[in-house]
Amino acid sequence: MTLDELEEYVTTLPRKRVGFYPTPLHKVENLSKKYGIELYLKREDLAGPAAASGSKVRLAEFIVGEALQNGVTHILTVGAYISNSATQLAAVAIQAGITPVLFLYDNLAEGFPKSWRGNLLVNKIMGVEVHCYPRSPSESQETIWDDKLYPAVARRKAELEAAGHTVMVAPAGVTHPASFPAHLLTYKEIQDQCRALGFKPDYLYHTTGTGGVLPAFAAAKLITADSTLIRSIAISSYRPDNYVSHDLIVSRVKTIYEQIGKPAPDDSEILDVLDIDQRFIGPDYAVPSDEGTAAIRELATSDAILLGPVYTGKGFAGLLAHIREGRVKPGEKVVFLHTGDTNNLFEDAAVTGLVAAG
Ligand SMILES: *Cc1c(COP(=O)(O)O)cnc(C)c1O
Repeated sequence: MTLDELEEYVTTLPRKRVGFYPTPLHKVENLSKKYGIELYLKREDLAGPAAASGSKVRLAEFIVGEALQNGVTHILTVGAYISNSATQLAAVAIQAGITPVLFLYDNLAEGFPKSWRGNLLVNKIMGVEVHCYPRSPSESQETIWDDKLYPAVARRKAELEAAGHTVMVAPAGVTHPASFPAHLLTYKEIQDQCRALGFKPDYLYHTTGTGGVLPAFAAAKLITADSTLIRSIAISSYRPDNYVSHDLIVSRVKTIYEQIGKPAPDDSEILDVLDIDQRFIGPDYAVPSDEGTAAIRELATSDAILLGPVYTGKGFAGLLAHIREGRVKPGEKVVFLHTGDTNNLFEDAAVTGLVAAG
């Protein structure tokens, strides 16, 4: 199967078109020279509909597409208060005339909402109904999900349904099966754009979190027997007992095969294309790391391009480390997927890494 055929399949799926696709792909001139490599960025951070954007817009288009087909009036979703996915899903829902309702928790246990800022400020400006759940330092993030967020979602859903509305609940990270094939398109755009520029990328780097991008990239590579290697930098640990794991990615790759109507390869074949570096998570999810902050500053000072402290700074730190370690060699061609996260630069100084957290 070719990338063109994959794209044809994706065009048959329900979709609310909101983003400006294909997103740009361009060379990063100064940093490329500094390291003697060919570094390109694929700009999912510029997907739209506003600068408050990123890789979740593409996922949200398919979830909202399905919601429209089912007559949904309200989409409820959950996340951390700095959540990119919640804000981007809200933006796509608004354009579709669907009411978004967000349930957000305080992942830093710093007293929430302290002030309207970052994504929280954007949600407020868009007039989104946001329910905030503070966390005390003694409370675990898991406890917040089970004891506060999900029960609150269930209560609001029941209320809305009793009032005659049709409700859809989208999982954290907008990783709903309807959205799994979305980033097959990103993969195709990257390969098309690189071909138009006259090269084949050696590596495709990206930051992996809830597993929205990686299953589609792995599936696209396997289905089309493509030679580009996928390298993922994790911001949350891949463990069997965590919300993301190697097994979860394998099962989502298999779901994509099922959706396309192709027999899935063995688990081992899927695991073989996964290359997930977990050394750049830093102190915790959404807590800035020194390498991440340094990476944000390096790209901003060399090429005036902004990353973010929760995801893309850490992902880019992983790429820079691989260059230093010789895992990317001089002259090799790298595409880094810029998934967004720049709103989180406008968080408080602890989240930007400019002062110590806590
Ligand atoms: C969600 C997110 C990621 C992680 O991507 P997944 O597809 O969830 O693994 C990376 N970068 C940014 C900016 C994100 O918002």
